[in-house]
Amino acid sequence: EGGDKMADGGGGAPEGWGGLSLLGLAPGAPSCPHGPALLFVKTSQGKEEGRKFYACSACRDRKDCNFFQWENEKVSEARLAAREEYNRIHQPFFTHRQNVERYENFVQLPLSKRRFCQECQQLLLPAEWENHLDHQFLCGISNAQLKSPSELLHPLENKKTNAQYLFTDRSCRFLLDLIINLGFRRVLSVGTPRLHEIIQSKTSQEDDFRVRSLLLDIDFRYSQFYMEDEFCHYNMFNHYFFGGEAARETCRKFLRQDNGEGVIMVTDPPFGGLVEALASSFKKLMAMCQEAEEGGDNSQEMPMFWIFPYFFESRILEFFPSFKMMDYQVDYDNHALYKHGKSGRRQSPVRIFTNLTPSMIVLPVEEGYRFCAICQRYVSSGNQHCEICNSCTSKDGRQWKHCVLCNKCVKPSWFHCNNCNCCALQNHACEEAGTGCFVCGKAGHKRSTCPSLSRT
Ligand code: SAH
Ligand code: ZN
Ligand code: ZN
Ligand code: ZN
Ligand code: ZN
Repeated sequence: EGGDKMADGGGGAPEGWGGLSLLGLAPGAPSCPHGPALLFVKTSQGKEEGRKFYACSACRDRKDCNFFQWENEKVSEARLAAREEYNRIHQPFFTHRQNVERYENFVQLPLSKRRFCQECQQLLLPAEWENHLDHQFLCGISNAQLKSPSELLHPLENKKTNAQYLFTDRSCRFLLDLIINLGFRRVLSVGTPRLHEIIQSKTSQEDDFRVRSLLLDIDFRYSQFYMEDEFCHYNMFNHYFFGGEAARETCRKFLRQDNGEGVIMVTDPPFGGLVEALASSFKKLMAMCQEAEEGGDNSQEMPMFWIFPYFFESRILEFFPSFKMMDYQVDYDNHALYKHGKSGRRQSPVRIFTNLTPSMIVLPVEEGYRFCAICQRYVSSGNQHCEICNSCTSKDGRQWKHCVLCNKCVKPSWFHCNNCNCCALQNHACEEAGTGCFVCGKAGHKRSTCPSLSRT
């Protein structure tokens, strides 16, 4: 469970903010350039302690956004005005509308005049060339390149805030085929630019392809390539539409089309993210989709694929108890650890959580997945059905073993420790009297076995 995408996911504080607890979106919260700030409180041993404060919802690194305000702090008029000005000037230079117009001009240009500035990550119009003369740029940007912005743009690499990990072609095609086979006609792509991109390019290439996608992402660079009804600049930690009411309405319309039927949401958030904040935003998107028409009855929950590491299972289930974790291993192009190599395959810890019936999620048999008739779902090849648990219990794809003392299946590398009264790695540090778990503060287990991180 290494790798930077989950530097905190495996064993830090539950929310990845060491010693801090998220209280959430508070009414009247102050705003930073990333929308309303979230309320936090310092915790110690699982107990709230100290003053509450607001911090940026999107950036975990103070270097990216240093917004901070005590909850009960009196902020002077002058500081409020300065903050408003600061937020205003920290918005992108061009609006989405301007970027759409620029794109329309750009595609009129002959190939020889189509430049993309790699430093500014921006399509350039000839009149702008002189301002980028000492920047590296690409020439002859083809229509095909414009249709694959995720390959043109360099992935954001900020490890803490929003590192972008792009799906391999294999994972992306698997998701799309699944969506098509399940009969969906619309995809709300939340932080999944590559999925959005293959849907968009199929739409423009195949006449009989009927699936549409709307991308919601905080990466505003994508507004250079998509119209206002294809992309909304959105923050998934506070459900904030940077484009205001018009953008929110675009999203609402997209979800509400056909009475909210035939739409699925697919999301692949940053793993260091605040699960609770994500869940709260996703519930708001679900509610947007379910808004009943006059006299209508719409109790159907919007189907969702939430792509996240398996060790966040219990966190996700806390907020979405109906969700099930699928065994499919999602992997990434630009993540050395989570690549699905040709040989000596690295196991990716990333899975699909969904509220759809598991038996409907057909996993590729040619990649070793098989159907367990008892569990009524597809499982990975190493995942053996345990007679005692009466379920296929492996979470990580390796074969797990049943511990009669723990009365559950555990990782193959674990042994029962009589001291800790549970299974753990052989060389684990045994429970010391009086010290609670580093993660949740409760006694009886260590962070490696904290139930708030993983059921297992
Ligand atoms: N695997 C996906 C990309 C996942 S990387 C694919 O290939 O399509 C995480 C994505 O979430 C990135 O696109 C990133 O820009 C976006 N993101 C990060 N923080 C976000 C936030 N606060 N709100 C909305 N999107 C965010
Ligand atoms: Zn911010
Ligand atoms: Zn089974
Ligand atoms: Zn078992
Ligand atoms: Zn045990």
